[in-house]
Amino acid sequence: MKRIAILGSTGSIGQSALDVVARHSDRFKVVGLTAHANVELLLKQVEEFGPEAVAVTNGGVAAELKRKLDIPVHEGQEGICEVASNKDADFVLSAIVGSAGLLPTLAAVRAGKTIGLANKETLVAAGDIVIEEAQKSGAKILPVDSEHSAVFQCLEGQDRKFLRKVILTASGGPFMGKSAEELRDVTPADALNHPSWSMGKKITVDSATLMNKGLEVIEAHHLFGVSPENIEVLIHPQSIIHSMVEFTDGSCIAQLSVPDMRGAIAYALSYPERLEGVIEALDLPSLGQLTFQKPDIKSFPCLSYAYDALSEGGTMPAVLNAANEIAVEGFLAGRIRFNDIPAIIKKVMNSHEKTAMSGIETVLKADAWAREHAMKLVESIEAST
Ligand code: NAD
Ligand code: MG
Repeated sequence: MKRIAILGSTGSIGQSALDVVARHSDRFKVVGLTAHANVELLLKQVEEFGPEAVAVTNGGVAAELKRKLDIPVHEGQEGICEVASNKDADFVLSAIVGSAGLLPTLAAVRAGKTIGLANKETLVAAGDIVIEEAQKSGAKILPVDSEHSAVFQCLEGQDRKFLRKVILTASGGPFMGKSAEELRDVTPADALNHPSWSMGKKITVDSATLMNKGLEVIEAHHLFGVSPENIEVLIHPQSIIHSMVEFTDGSCIAQLSVPDMRGAIAYALSYPERLEGVIEALDLPSLGQLTFQKPDIKSFPCLSYAYDALSEGGTMPAVLNAANEIAVEGFLAGRIRFNDIPAIIKKVMNSHEKTAMSGIETVLKADAWAREHAMKLVESIEAST
């Protein structure tokens, strides 16, 4: 029986993971759940899965849960870190959104857990530190992001010295083919209307700007030790090939499936085994064709900003990530326009004096600085319109 803690259990990934767990209750036992604000759903999950402890970020919510539950209720970020590092869990699914997932994921890493990593922002902001800490503690990081799960699956049984290139696929999002001018007036509702994946709001907007793919380039660099020039991005609107690897002899291996995150989640949960009938099988004849094209950096510059941040190194990726989080929040709240997202990120990056990574404190400081700076830009754009 694998004992599982889910950080961010009320989110899109968290709920999909619990769906997999519910179908395989002979193999998995939920020992910890954490959430931010959705108390109602968390209570339902507690009732169904019977965890041994929960944690929530908000103190008021924690007080309410303490009255209703007879298991330990931890609170605040420390409380989430407590669930992440608790000795009762063998496997921690890191599925909090944004850099709020960083310290809890690091706590699980330091505790030497096996981690199913959906929270890509952790590796973007602090990849070098997280990978180094995992090497020290013996923690194993299994990718849950579908592209990285695909690359991981393609590399199974292969000698990494023959790996030449990682090719990440991207759906292109709802605005593929639009010019920057045509993107001027798109609304949050337009951006949230993703053509192939159903996900949380932040990552859905990131998919629309192509920042999601930028974050994934950085994530791939840390997970697979591939340099930025050997990570290519291809637009593949059908979202059937989740990513590919190319070897030194010119041969490529790709991983295919219907776009359903339960596939990648279940693979991490059961690795190195595979579960029975997790997702629908592919019906290639009815799909007809799979197509590919190069990304349009002019309309979607966020992707190139991520490459820039990765080659700058140090605190720059953390700054890119934090500025993006604030800009996306501003866009979702109707305070700025879609094209202001890349503009804000670029400005924040340009004003940042990169520092070398000397520990997690450096990352947290850069993250806080970038948030504040980006927030001021959101306010000034809002005030001028
Ligand atoms: P979501 O918004 O649906 O859920 C986020 C979860 O995090 C919720 O449980 C919420 O309670 C919790 N949370 C939010 N703010 C928090 C805070 N400040 N402190 C503690 N917990 C907090 O997001 P999602 O779509 O499930 O994505 C989660 C992560 O997985 C993201 O990093 C995303 O990039 C990654 N990911 C998601 C998908 C997908 O299909 N949804 C695919 C690949 C990767
Ligand atoms: Mg992905």
